[in-house]
Amino acid sequence: MKRLTLAGLFALLLFAAADTSTVKELAPGVFVRMGDRSRNQPANTGWVLFKDYVLVIDANFPWGAKEILPEIRKTAGGRPIRFVFNTHYHGDHHYGTELYAKEGAAIVCSQECANESRTKGQAGWDKNTATGEYSLKPYKLVHPTIVFDKTMSFDDGEHRVEMILMGPGHSKGDAVAWLPKEKILFTGDMCVTWGLGNNVADVDADHDHWVSALDRMAQMPVTTLVPGHGGLAAKPQIQEQRAYLADMLAQVRKGIKARKTADQMAGEIDLTRHKIGADKQRNATSVKAMYRRLTTK
Ligand SMILES: [Zn+2]
Repeated sequence: MKRLTLAGLFALLLFAAADTSTVKELAPGVFVRMGDRSRNQPANTGWVLFKDYVLVIDANFPWGAKEILPEIRKTAGGRPIRFVFNTHYHGDHHYGTELYAKEGAAIVCSQECANESRTKGQAGWDKNTATGEYSLKPYKLVHPTIVFDKTMSFDDGEHRVEMILMGPGHSKGDAVAWLPKEKILFTGDMCVTWGLGNNVADVDADHDHWVSALDRMAQMPVTTLVPGHGGLAAKPQIQEQRAYLADMLAQVRKGIKARKTADQMAGEIDLTRHKIGADKQRNATSVKAMYRRLTTK
């Protein structure tokens, strides 16, 4: 009996030692829940505990939000979720808004992001025909009702979160969340750290401005970077993102000058020397999308 108990205790300790949680506290009251691509919840979600309320950063898909809400409640000490700030309107970051709205939260984003939510975002939602686990049918898209032009802040004297417009870049209305006290930057998809690169295909993507926005972010005293997708990072990953994007842009422009076709370029341009460009297939898709953007402006 005694041996069993000891073995049980050992197993328990082993289990406790393995950090399997996808929720991390980055600083007192500042949390992140890492995205899970295998269950179609690929975006990272953050939240900040203010004295009287919780601010969420990026809603995720509805099925993601369903799992995130209980995680937030576990840490919130009874505080209500009052605001959700979405970095941009793309579904993997934004389509879960209704679940937070039902909790009483208002949805916040840049003015351009709100415009995109009502146009491209709603159109994408309406076109979605997925069934089963990832169907949007049981849900509806709640659009942002609090908007800002360039910046807006939440500040209760303890925590400060500055929302700063960085777009047009990955989309038109991209904004980041900057916590100057903790030096934490939530970048949305302006920066990713996984090996699958970014989606560069939004009809309003502005790749040149995106590169200069990354330069602007690199000027900030960031110590912890929470990307839209992929693991936690720091300042060097802003440079990596910039290098990947600038390289793609230069090579696609060169190809256009040489009158190459999108397919030719997709086959020839090699971006695998960049950590976030590890996936050849995704790079090829991005090269074609960038070609389309640059030739149809
Ligand atoms: Zn995304």
